[in-house]
Amino acid sequence: ETVFPQPSRTRFIAVANQKGGVGKTTSTVNIAAALAKAGSRVLVIDMDPQGNASTALGVPHGSGQPSVYDVIEGRKGIAEIKLPCPDFETLEVVPSSIDLSGAELELADLPNRNYLLRSALHAFLTESDLHYDYVFFDCAPSLGLLVLNALCAAREVLIPIQAEYYALEGLGQLIHTIGLAQSTLNRHLVISTILVTMYDRRTLLSKEVYDEVHEHYPSIVLETTIPRSVRISEAPSFGQTVIAYDPHGAGAVAYREAALEIAQHSEQALQLIDDTRKNE
Ligand code: ADP
Ligand code: MG
Repeated sequence: ETVFPQPSRTRFIAVANQKGGVGKTTSTVNIAAALAKAGSRVLVIDMDPQGNASTALGVPHGSGQPSVYDVIEGRKGIAEIKLPCPDFETLEVVPSSIDLSGAELELADLPNRNYLLRSALHAFLTESDLHYDYVFFDCAPSLGLLVLNALCAAREVLIPIQAEYYALEGLGQLIHTIGLAQSTLNRHLVISTILVTMYDRRTLLSKEVYDEVHEHYPSIVLETTIPRSVRISEAPSFGQTVIAYDPHGAGAVAYREAALEIAQHSEQALQLIDDTRKNE
């Protein structure tokens, strides 16, 4: 087994794309699981009211259950909410719930509305004295308040792109929005990683999408692509990641490779963040 290098400090990574169905959740949970399996300490914060990441990681998240909703509304701390993922010892989850869908409206008038998650995470990390190698935020397919909370709590953005015809449409908009978040809310935010998902080796289109992304973003697009795989899509119905459900299948192997690349890029990504401080 390849040993994954650990980052020299915690990496805070928001997995974002305002398009739905591009593989945000699938990539979040499987990369998190692969990193945990390789020995990293990982926290996944589910910021989508759908709670798909919570489902895939096998933690309960019904309406009325304690969730990240209580955290951003200030009723509970992350320490009280987080749950262990049953399949991986070093992987923990802050579950979401459908209740979170009320937050966008309920919090809209608060002056600090974009920083609620960041404050809660900061309080948790300083009070608990726990160390994580990676904190992932699985974002909803929107550019609303919950996504902005994730972009303010994160230092990096990982953008999954589905290898399909309209893949790059919307990417400009997303990068523009992240740029806005950078200039107004969180200067230390960098787009560190792009991952091409649902790649079909038999089609020219998949290759064309990859090549185009690579042409525009050569230093941040991962070499590894994620193939379409039935195992990947059925794993969540067993409350599992594909890393646990089908560890030797093509889907798990690809996500493991992607996670290794992410781990190997740690110092490069942390350097990008440090570079944002130079102009202060
Ligand atoms: P998002 O979080 O961006 O909305 P998801 O990760 O939930 O997207 O993926 C959308 C759908 O596609 C889900 O049903 C998921 O199981 C499926 N899916 C994601 N990645 C793959 C893949 N590589 N192969 C097959 N199905 C996939
Ligand atoms: Mg999702």
